[in-house]
Amino acid sequence: MTTSSITTPELPDAPSVPPRPAGALATAHEQLATAVEHLGYDEGLHRMLATPRREIHVAVPLRRDSGETVLFHGFRVQHNVSRGPGKGGLRYHPSVDIDEVRALAMWMTWKCGVVDLPYGGAKGGVAIDPREYSTSELERVTRRYTSEIMPMIGPDTDIMAPDMGTDSQTMAWVMDTYSVNRGHTIPAVVTGKPLAVGGSLGRGTATSAGIVHVTAAALEEVGEKLDGVSVAVQGFGKVGSHAAALFAARGARVAAVSDQYGGIRADTGIDVDRLFAHVAATGSVVGFDGADPISNAELLALDVDVLVPAAVEGVLDEVTAGRVRARYVVEGANGPTTTAGDRVLAKNGVTVVPDVLANAGGVVVSYFEWVQANQTYWWTEHEIAEKLEHRMTTSYHEVSAMARAHGVSLRDAALIIGVKRTADAHEIRGLYP
Ligand code: NAD
Repeated sequence: MTTSSITTPELPDAPSVPPRPAGALATAHEQLATAVEHLGYDEGLHRMLATPRREIHVAVPLRRDSGETVLFHGFRVQHNVSRGPGKGGLRYHPSVDIDEVRALAMWMTWKCGVVDLPYGGAKGGVAIDPREYSTSELERVTRRYTSEIMPMIGPDTDIMAPDMGTDSQTMAWVMDTYSVNRGHTIPAVVTGKPLAVGGSLGRGTATSAGIVHVTAAALEEVGEKLDGVSVAVQGFGKVGSHAAALFAARGARVAAVSDQYGGIRADTGIDVDRLFAHVAATGSVVGFDGADPISNAELLALDVDVLVPAAVEGVLDEVTAGRVRARYVVEGANGPTTTAGDRVLAKNGVTVVPDVLANAGGVVVSYFEWVQANQTYWWTEHEIAEKLEHRMTTSYHEVSAMARAHGVSLRDAALIIGVKRTADAHEIRGLYP
């Protein structure tokens, strides 16, 4: 019943522009094409940059607690490994498919380039709705998926981290499965794991802290501060919830938040600490007594200073982007804005701080975690917070300077930096054989 296979990416007969699929992968390819055009690369290099190095598609069978057997599809894609091991999250979501994982893996390559980490980009996913399964079922799915992709991962080859639908417990299961099969404990095979097994202080809030740092840097450029600005956050998961809390801690007014069940709004500001307790008790932001209900569509169109999409891809398309009244869109999620949505936001004067920069705080502290695990020497929370803020703020200013120098958007500038660092590694290493 169980099958697994390593698939070679499909290559066309003759060099031509890369194929343009739909959805997140289409957006990722369009963004790459824009950066390649700015950089003046030829078609051969473009194709190298557009094509994943390795992909694996595995069957993940699960014996349910009831005794019934069900089967899921799992994927791992290493988009690029020229600057170092592949790095990227593991996603559990029913809509996961190979093209989504390819897009997310490509964005990881550029992201690691933008914040100058010695990594390539990778991503994994299982097409499963984790809310429908017990903890022990999810443990079995995770261990089986890990066993199936074992030939591809490792602390020097491909390092996983949590993403949508997975968390530090998932990473502990991956790390344990990998370690047991290798015969000794290998904490550096995953990041975002619990502190008890070699996790890093500050990892749980790192993506969110990075979002707040780049927002502060963008506001400072125009002589403003976070204090008093209004913020709406879509998604109240690992990224959105801590972003809301950290914005509030820096004096911003969190005017609205949402999750997949709906949203809430309070123009005077949501008490985020109390909201955490409500979500812990009910599983959703919906029904919070200190706010009024709104839909996700209404949240995206609120008259706030900063909009943080921190849930799923593609929520700001040609139509929804046209309704955005925020001055800044700071992309907590990966790929929340389509190419058409991007054009509309630019036309309407909305500044977009792109995902590959805005949500890079997670991979930055993942890198710190990996360095600590490799050194078996752990840093203090203060050291990590300081290094994270420095890396995010420096990267923001590099991207902003590039945007000014070339008269392009922050997204194009970030992509130019990330793609160029990757292409430089290709060129310097040369082509084997
Ligand atoms: P999560 O699973 O912890 O939370 C996702 C949140 O989004 C939940 O509140 C969920 O209810 C909500 N949601 C799901 N579908 C929705 C919909 N259709 N409309 C509105 N809300 C919806 O996931 P996360 O780790 O917070 O990741 C969120 C995004 O951030 C993803 O795009 C992920 O790739 C990206 N990201 C995560 C990290 C990280 O460190 N976790 C790092 C970088 C980027």
